[in-house]
Amino acid sequence: IPAFDAHLLKKDFPILNETVNGKPLVWFDNAATTQKPKAVMDRITWFYEHENSNIHRAAHELAARATDAYEAAREKVRVFLGARSANEIIFVRGATEAINLVAQSWGEQYLHPGDEIVVSHLEHHANIVPWKRLADKKGLKLRVIPVDDDGQILLDEYAKLLNANTKLVAFTQVSNALGTVTPAQQMVAMAHAVGAKVLVDGAQSVSHMTVNMQALDADWFVFSGHKVFGPTGIGVVYGKEGLLNATQPWQGGGNMIQDVTFEEIRYHNAPGRFEAGTGNIADAVGLGAAIDYISRIGMENIGQYEHFLLEYATGLIKQIPGVRRIGTAAHKASVLSFTMDGYSNDEVGRALNEEGIAVRTGHHCAQPILRRMGVETTVRPSLAFYNTCADVDRFIEVLWKLRKKK
Ligand code: PMP
Repeated sequence: IPAFDAHLLKKDFPILNETVNGKPLVWFDNAATTQKPKAVMDRITWFYEHENSNIHRAAHELAARATDAYEAAREKVRVFLGARSANEIIFVRGATEAINLVAQSWGEQYLHPGDEIVVSHLEHHANIVPWKRLADKKGLKLRVIPVDDDGQILLDEYAKLLNANTKLVAFTQVSNALGTVTPAQQMVAMAHAVGAKVLVDGAQSVSHMTVNMQALDADWFVFSGHKVFGPTGIGVVYGKEGLLNATQPWQGGGNMIQDVTFEEIRYHNAPGRFEAGTGNIADAVGLGAAIDYISRIGMENIGQYEHFLLEYATGLIKQIPGVRRIGTAAHKASVLSFTMDGYSNDEVGRALNEEGIAVRTGHHCAQPILRRMGVETTVRPSLAFYNTCADVDRFIEVLWKLRKKK
């Protein structure tokens, strides 16, 4: 990929200059969180140095600056997701809060005993627990789309689960544990054909591929800022405007009301309706800067380069005897989960850390899918555009050293 210079882009990320155990850091834990370019940190500092205020336009100059910065960030997210209106973009704390918001507002209001919720076997706990709790509370049925041995959605089985009782389908666009890219557009259309609403978890997709709400047609789409080179503590619920305005608010408080008396409360329309209280203004602005940054590189370029890098790493890891790759879907993004004969996953993680290479080991908050694949935990390197072939080579070298010892 001659047009893509990961070595150059790496320089935009101060933390990638760190050394760990005397070795240059290799950050292969991007599925857990991504590192931040200096542009994002500078933008947040600029906010606190020049714009900081609560957002209540027209009160005073700094309020106007803060409000403008916050609303500009919302508009950047709108463009990033290809949403129709900035009113469809709600700022929350992250993907977890986003899913809980939908479950506890729309789910509470519109789901009734006997209704069915469908999730996939690939889901992160964040897209299981809120639905399971709601199902238990309200007498709903939770059904699960199975996957094949490669970790791919079984579309025929999914079709069989859909019926007139299906009110909601919630699934991830990319699996955080296996890297599987799901056929999201097709799955959304299949759910809509039986009249169900659809929530797509974009926590692992937005940093690796272009997403477009008009093409995807999901009713809600959620993601976390920190997984897309933005700050922690900020995330997004996209929801179709009519649906958001037909849903009762989740939390109550300031900002979200038109009028309050002790007798009656009238709410704003979205997004204000779902943004009770003072939000994370500075980090929303930081997320806007992260979107500017990746938009300058281009999501298409990022996706292509990462595909190349993942193929490169997969080709090399396949040659090491006793390495079992967990998740071998034809269409994958970023993630290369595996186990290694003769070593616990923790031992592999520690050996990599010795060499300055950061990977996650564990169940990745996705226990059902790992158990489906026959394991409790894996070693999980996950790649981003600032990783290089040289990083991959160092990683592979550690695995070969371990292999030769046993
Ligand atoms: N969904 C998926 C697929 C994820 O990977 C994650 C984070 N690991 C989440 C949801 C939850 O995101 P957060 O912890 O930022 O709320």
